[in-house]
Amino acid sequence: PYDGPRAEEIFRKRVEFLSPSLFHFYDRPLNIVDGKMQYLFDEDGRRYLDAFGGIATVCCGHCHPDVVEAIVNQAKRIQHSTVLYLNHAIADFAEALASKMPGDLKVVFFTNSGTEANELALMIARLYTGCNDIISLRNGYHGNAAGTMGATAQSNWKFNVVQTGVHHALNPDPYRGAFGSDGEKYARDVQEIIEFGTTGRVAGFISEAIQGVGGIVELAPGYLPAAYDIVRKAGGLCIADEVQAGVARTGSHFWGFEGHGVIPDIVTMAKGIGNGIPIGAVVTTPEIAQVLTCRSYFNTFGGNPVSTAGGHAVLKVLEKEKLQENAFVVGSHLKEQLNKLKEKHDIIGDVRGKGFLLGVELVTDREKKTPAKAEISHVMNHMKDMGVLVGKGGFYGNVFRITPPLCFTKEDSDFFIDVMDIALSKL
Ligand code: PMP
Repeated sequence: PYDGPRAEEIFRKRVEFLSPSLFHFYDRPLNIVDGKMQYLFDEDGRRYLDAFGGIATVCCGHCHPDVVEAIVNQAKRIQHSTVLYLNHAIADFAEALASKMPGDLKVVFFTNSGTEANELALMIARLYTGCNDIISLRNGYHGNAAGTMGATAQSNWKFNVVQTGVHHALNPDPYRGAFGSDGEKYARDVQEIIEFGTTGRVAGFISEAIQGVGGIVELAPGYLPAAYDIVRKAGGLCIADEVQAGVARTGSHFWGFEGHGVIPDIVTMAKGIGNGIPIGAVVTTPEIAQVLTCRSYFNTFGGNPVSTAGGHAVLKVLEKEKLQENAFVVGSHLKEQLNKLKEKHDIIGDVRGKGFLLGVELVTDREKKTPAKAEISHVMNHMKDMGVLVGKGGFYGNVFRITPPLCFTKEDSDFFIDVMDIALSKL
């Protein structure tokens, strides 16, 4: 049993000593003291089914024994910067990641976070092309440093600091977008941005395959191939931000972009690949990678032995436990059940996503699509009281984000549905 500080004491310290901008989803934030696979445990030993941990960090399950073992064994041997000396952990993980990539994508740069990975990707695109203009999608999220905050296109996440050089294209959002599910129509906006907003040449285009923070928005079919085509004709590189959609989560494919039938020039990732350990990566072709040799590029802890040993163990677990297949089978079942809930509850305006990257948008009026902001908080708190943790997001904060660890079972899904059904019925 846990006998450490209680939630009230931790919360008091947080208010006094930590950033005042920290936020929490629940009326009374939980003190989570243990994690095991798809479960979290609070200070009283109360168990919660975690339907959101997947996105934050955990891909193959909280404290997965194989990953913990790899991390602990490496920490006992040596933890250092990888830049100065050789160590097999970084080389082995890079090789394993490269083997998961299509085309000529095989050179890996390691970072410590998704923000750092995207900052590096944007810089590589600018160096390679000699251009500055980047195109990203409205409603996308790419990070919180100057460049990536520029590429992020939601006012919720933007501070008024210099974020130049990014144009935000129409979001190919099938639910709220002007052109419905016609991907090619949205792609024309990319063409127009290039024609009217740049010299005609651009550095690149960055987008998620399914928008995560933006509320699990699937890009309209046909959009990415058309946009990639347009960007490449203007000399730009195409960057796939796989921080949320990557690493087996969508079930049908290992990488989210594969679901759109495109091959990017640069792929970025973070979060789940470390199963809780901070690590990010940029993968590109040998030719493009060459641009970084024009100067020294240094990242003290990017690719350190402990993080890369953990990342490599994650890839092995995914394979051994067939977790991509599980994401596909159980995720499809869960989506089917969510669609049934939609028939029963008028407040559900949309159910979307793939595998274990699912979204449920709540609206008070299906015609007007009025965001049900207060209602979603109610439902979330009630679900927590019944032992289920779920995420929320979207520009209006009215979308449930269902992104469990990939070991989530069919029984977990059915329990999740029962709990959501009760919470929605009590509204
Ligand atoms: N890209 C995407 C798609 C993300 O969801 C996030 C984090 N929410 C990031 C980049 C930034 O990652 P990090 O928080 O590790 O910097």
